[in-house]
Amino acid sequence: MHCGLCLPQCPTYALTGLEKSSPRGRIRLIKAVADGDLPMTQGFIDEMNFCLDCQACETACPAGVKYGALVESARAQILQQGYEQRFSALAKKFFFRWVFSRHNRIRLLASLLKFYQKFGFQWFFQKSGLLKLVSRRLHDIQGLAPAISEKSSTEVYSEIVSSRGETKYRIGFLSGCIMDVAYADVNIDTVELLRNHRCEVIIPKAQVCCGSLQAHHGDMEVARRLAQTNIEAFSRFDLDAIVINSAGCGAFMKEYVHLLKDVPVLATKARELSAKVRDITEFLTELSYHRESHRAKAAGIRGKRVTYHDACHLVHTQKISKQPRDLIRSVQGIEYVELPESTWCCGSAGIYNITHYDDSMKLLERKLQNIRTVKPDIIVTGNPGCLAQIQYGLAKEGMKVELMHTATFLRRASET
Ligand code: SF4
Ligand code: SF4
Repeated sequence: MHCGLCLPQCPTYALTGLEKSSPRGRIRLIKAVADGDLPMTQGFIDEMNFCLDCQACETACPAGVKYGALVESARAQILQQGYEQRFSALAKKFFFRWVFSRHNRIRLLASLLKFYQKFGFQWFFQKSGLLKLVSRRLHDIQGLAPAISEKSSTEVYSEIVSSRGETKYRIGFLSGCIMDVAYADVNIDTVELLRNHRCEVIIPKAQVCCGSLQAHHGDMEVARRLAQTNIEAFSRFDLDAIVINSAGCGAFMKEYVHLLKDVPVLATKARELSAKVRDITEFLTELSYHRESHRAKAAGIRGKRVTYHDACHLVHTQKISKQPRDLIRSVQGIEYVELPESTWCCGSAGIYNITHYDDSMKLLERKLQNIRTVKPDIIVTGNPGCLAQIQYGLAKEGMKVELMHTATFLRRASET
């Protein structure tokens, strides 16, 4: 419990150098509050919220301490006991409980954002600096919103999408909330990769947000409700696997088994669902995609210098790091280079870049500095939050580097 091996791997400890902002320090704080030795102070709440929940400490810990579960239970306690500041609690309730619990509400919000982006309002407010008069923070964070897709992926596909040629696997696909409306192209690339590999793809219409955002902020009640809806939606079909292209969603759906273990009617179904969940890179590797010969055909890929950024919930939570690299390296005609500190959080961390903008930007700057050292043409990654955050940094710094999801990279590589 005291070895401290997790400290050098913790981004918030690196930012402050303070023990209380380290995994070991936070575990001590959580224990002291749980034992009644320390009251629930604002300092404690701030420390819990300062943590990125990146779980780099779990990777580093030789004792296998489940830090993520500890911080999430502390956040749940803060929420349940009404210690969250009123405005922050209301904003989280509105987004996590109301908007993110239904796909049609997410689409409505996305339509408003698209209108704002498409008709020049975002450009105008960004350039004029008018928003700064209202709130400096609002001005800073508005650029973080990814561009909304013309059509959501669930508008593009029907519930059942046939494979190309012979069908060998029946695969469920989580369209996600942000992925569906802001990265519809990535969802399309994922579905098309699967179809090309003898998969019939089922995108259950009744699916909802996976519940990870809610759980990471301590709202376990809503997270359980969303998990239950997804279990019912996916278990209507006889599936070989459930493929996910968002690291955070995949990590959380693998956790449904623990989330619902005490709910008798759901425990078995949750265990069955979690056992089927695969990240797209994990699933393609199981299909031996990386052993096939892939010659980079597309001009935008051939001859390019490519690097990879590890999304926290892929590398630290799901322990997936070799698969995406093997898949990228299987494309012949590119130069693959390792990104220094590729597993160091980019600062996105759910809504951390909104709630802790300044700290998040320091982490982003560290990521950009590492990117500058390898001078890639393309950065590949596997999570929508990382895509939005790194894109924001690249644009802000005027860096001419293309950023894409692993599924997009693989699909583009095979195009002529
Ligand atoms: S959490 Fe793990 S790595 Fe960190 S101090 Fe405790 S035992 Fe050591
Ligand atoms: S989850 Fe990340 S930020 Fe939080 S204590 Fe662990 S390493 Fe530090």
